Amino acid sequence: MLLHGIMASISEFYSRNLATESNKGMTQKAKSGGTPTKAPLGYVNVGVRDDVGREVRTVQADPARGPLVAWAFKAFASGNWTVAQMHRELDKRGLTTRPTPKRPAKPLSKSGIHRLLTNPYYKGTIVFRGATYKGCHEPLIPPEVFYRVQKVLEGHKSSTDRTQIHDHYLKGLVYCGQCHSRLFIVHARSHTGSIYPYFVCSGRQQRKTECLFQAIQIEDVEDLVAAYYERLAIPAGVREQLRNLVHVRFDQMTAEAKPELAALTIQRKAIEEEQDRLLDAYLKKTLDEDAHARKQREQSEQLEQVKADIAILSHDYAEARRHLEDALSLLSDPAKLYTVANADTRRLANQTFFKRIEVCERGDGDNEPSCDGLNHARTLQIQLEPPYTYFHDPETQEEARDFAAASCGIDTAKRRRSPADMNVATTRSMTDGSPGMTKTAVQPTAGSTPNTQGWLTGLEPAAAWTTTRSSTN
Ligand SMILES: [Zn+2]
Repeated sequence: MLLHGIMASISEFYSRNLATESNKGMTQKAKSGGTPTKAPLGYVNVGVRDDVGREVRTVQADPARGPLVAWAFKAFASGNWTVAQMHRELDKRGLTTRPTPKRPAKPLSKSGIHRLLTNPYYKGTIVFRGATYKGCHEPLIPPEVFYRVQKVLEGHKSSTDRTQIHDHYLKGLVYCGQCHSRLFIVHARSHTGSIYPYFVCSGRQQRKTECLFQAIQIEDVEDLVAAYYERLAIPAGVREQLRNLVHVRFDQMTAEAKPELAALTIQRKAIEEEQDRLLDAYLKKTLDEDAHARKQREQSEQLEQVKADIAILSHDYAEARRHLEDALSLLSDPAKLYTVANADTRRLANQTFFKRIEVCERGDGDNEPSCDGLNHARTLQIQLEPPYTYFHDPETQEEARDFAAASCGIDTAKRRRSPADMNVATTRSMTDGSPGMTKTAVQPTAGSTPNTQGWLTGLEPAAAWTTTRSSTN
């Protein structure tokens, strides 16, 4: 159960990591002035040939929609329009979304008009992952028009801004430690007119619970979360032991898959032979065309399924092993990573590590939850996201440590029997980033290698020595 749980969580980690990887690429594109995502309405993504004939993806003004977008900005900047009026007018003038193979073109929504009017892309600026870049694309409007439109929208907002949604990278992740309801953001205005963002318990606010959770400034929660990152770090030696433990688990799973793999290979051969017989029957006209087509389809489906199963079982968890490296490498200095991150990366980091963050109150000086409204100190109760639930579990770490100490003997014995096994193990430990380990394995003096060096090869001579001694006793 546990093995498959780890496997699954590491696979899931992959998708997150993939997101990070692709973000890196996209940020690179934004920095060089390219449009990292689908171009907004009024532009089209096009492929053009460069001087040497390579296709380059670029962005051009949409001849149909571009002028309408430009008109909307200029008209709106006059201050004589509301968003609702502009919405109707653009509908009348025929502004629609771009059609895709799945969705036909349709008029924009009112919120779509609002998004359009607040998108700085039209003045030539790219905002991506919280950073601003100068775009290479042709602006549809001059910057001063854009800023005037923002002023007009700002003016509208002050009268109708009660339902504004406040966004924050911690939103959706933080909960009340008392009643476990979600915390949400309110912007409180002080008598001097300054705005203070707070997290408020939704259970208390909606009187769904007896909760007495005191609102807490977002800044304070930010600090608590940032401080928690210090505790996420795992020392290199322990990470090494965890890595080895999981690799061995993957080896076990690969080995367990072998009989199944053999059975599937036989099945594949049988289906292929059956396909040949079917074709013969058809060619000799002992089978009519409809029956042949139906059976052929059935067999193709079966064959596809079998081939897919074979692919899954024979992949040796190579991908998962790489994800393991990614997941563990984040634990070398997570606090630093978090400190330098912008809001979007922080959100991603929080989603990667935490399933749930509860903000707890406690009376000063004791650890009991306190609802007396006096001098509240706050703490966090954190639920980690897998695979970190596993890596940070003291029992897992102990298991990895014991395993490091105990398994070297087994491994030595195994390797004496089977040079092929040894080859696999050695290759793996080398890719673990422990240079010189294969060397120490063949030097008898390496018995002094510390335990944290890894169990696969570094401890082998010590184990052999122990065996010798115990046999003479
Ligand atoms: Zn509450």
